[in-house]
Amino acid sequence: MAQKDAFVTEITPRSQDFSRWYIDVVRRAELADYSPVKGCMVIRPYGYAIWELIQQALDREIKRTGHVNAYFPLFIPESLLMKEAEHVEGFAPQVAYVTHGGGEELEEKLVVRPTSEAIIGTMYAKWVQSWRDLPILLNQWANVVRWEKVTRPFLRTTEFLWQEGHTAHETAEEAETETRMILDLYADLCASLMAMPVVKGIKSESEKFAGALRTYSIEALMGDGRALQAGTSHNLGQNFAKAFDITFQARDKSLQHVWGTSWGVTTRLVGAIIMTHGDDSGLVLPPAVAPYQVVIVPIGRENWRETVLPKAQEIRDQLTAAGIRVTLDERDERPGWKFSEWEMRGVPLRLEIGPKDIEKSQVLLARRDTREKQGVSIDGLAGHVRSLLDNIQKSLLERAITFREEHTHRAEDYDTFKATMEGRPGFVIAPWCGEAGCEAQIKTDTQATIRNMPLDGAAPSGKSCVRCGKPAVAEAWFAKAY
Ligand SMILES: [Zn+2]
Repeated sequence: MAQKDAFVTEITPRSQDFSRWYIDVVRRAELADYSPVKGCMVIRPYGYAIWELIQQALDREIKRTGHVNAYFPLFIPESLLMKEAEHVEGFAPQVAYVTHGGGEELEEKLVVRPTSEAIIGTMYAKWVQSWRDLPILLNQWANVVRWEKVTRPFLRTTEFLWQEGHTAHETAEEAETETRMILDLYADLCASLMAMPVVKGIKSESEKFAGALRTYSIEALMGDGRALQAGTSHNLGQNFAKAFDITFQARDKSLQHVWGTSWGVTTRLVGAIIMTHGDDSGLVLPPAVAPYQVVIVPIGRENWRETVLPKAQEIRDQLTAAGIRVTLDERDERPGWKFSEWEMRGVPLRLEIGPKDIEKSQVLLARRDTREKQGVSIDGLAGHVRSLLDNIQKSLLERAITFREEHTHRAEDYDTFKATMEGRPGFVIAPWCGEAGCEAQIKTDTQATIRNMPLDGAAPSGKSCVRCGKPAVAEAWFAKAY
């Protein structure tokens, strides 16, 4: 018991050391663990259950918008990756190779997929003949490998899980519409499912996907004031179509290259949930992504198994039948220990029930987010729990929006910009000249990068670049980022 108490209180306070806190939460809440392979993580059942809830909701949205799932090989012949020059240059430093198989050296090295444009483009070249074959709207759920030097569970690991959408279209307009539609879909899902507000925008040239015409991203603000890129959607133009020779006979009988897109979100979203909502006691999960939305803790003296447990089981079954994810903690531990255990694991609602409650036909409900408690009648309990969960989901989003607003500032001059980046971390919106060299200098000076720029942002009239004073072409969202 003493050992378990220590286990729970071992989380470093968030305000003291955010990175340490993050790792503590990941490990103590049993979301993930380090593996024998450096840079790779084991996603444990509780962490995987969160990912599954994200995955299932996103899969429904992907299908609702007309896409279908398929699967392509993990291994990609090296020569295919080499076909798109910018693409290969962007990924070369992170590529893992297979050189031997079946006890023999391979004639051609195989790349372990870092992303699948090359292999999917190769197949599209075979499948597309005429405009009638378009659009192709495919998605793949898979793992990818990008060799990383510095890793952190969920946020940056050598192998991670994701979905990658790959579409091919007849016109440039269709491809752009698709790219932007997916960006909206991602943003809506982050808000509604993860209670995480995001900033939608376009990436600068230096931050865009290797080989894309343009990249759009969603950016979220974590509890330490650092930004996290939570998803990207790329308009590939005809770059990959030309590299992989994906052509079709157009309606006017001419031979054309298709217009492509690709887009993805990853297991990084689990890390985003931790860092958006967590507190000193550990995880705080939005109900929509909580593996258990309610934990029932029976209270009572020695004979609670006889007096309280049957009623607790009955309540568990009722809530489960109402579609609520419930667990009943029947372990032989003190209720107080169970409370901190489930708080640490972020369960949105705790339901306490003891002999006195049973006499009064009521239970006690305690919210994880605000720690408010209220007595509630067992009659109509499921409806009450449902509305409390909805309320928690909503108030977590509101809290995150307020936090972001409080940590978003404007800067028109470089001194203000630097002072803001040093003092109060968060987003800084500032005019920028559009030059890569200037962007790089800002990063050197302050560690801040351009996260993205507003989607329909016209050049701010009469404004000068925050660093170099040249005419600004955009108002960029800067932040230190993960
Ligand atoms: Zn500049």
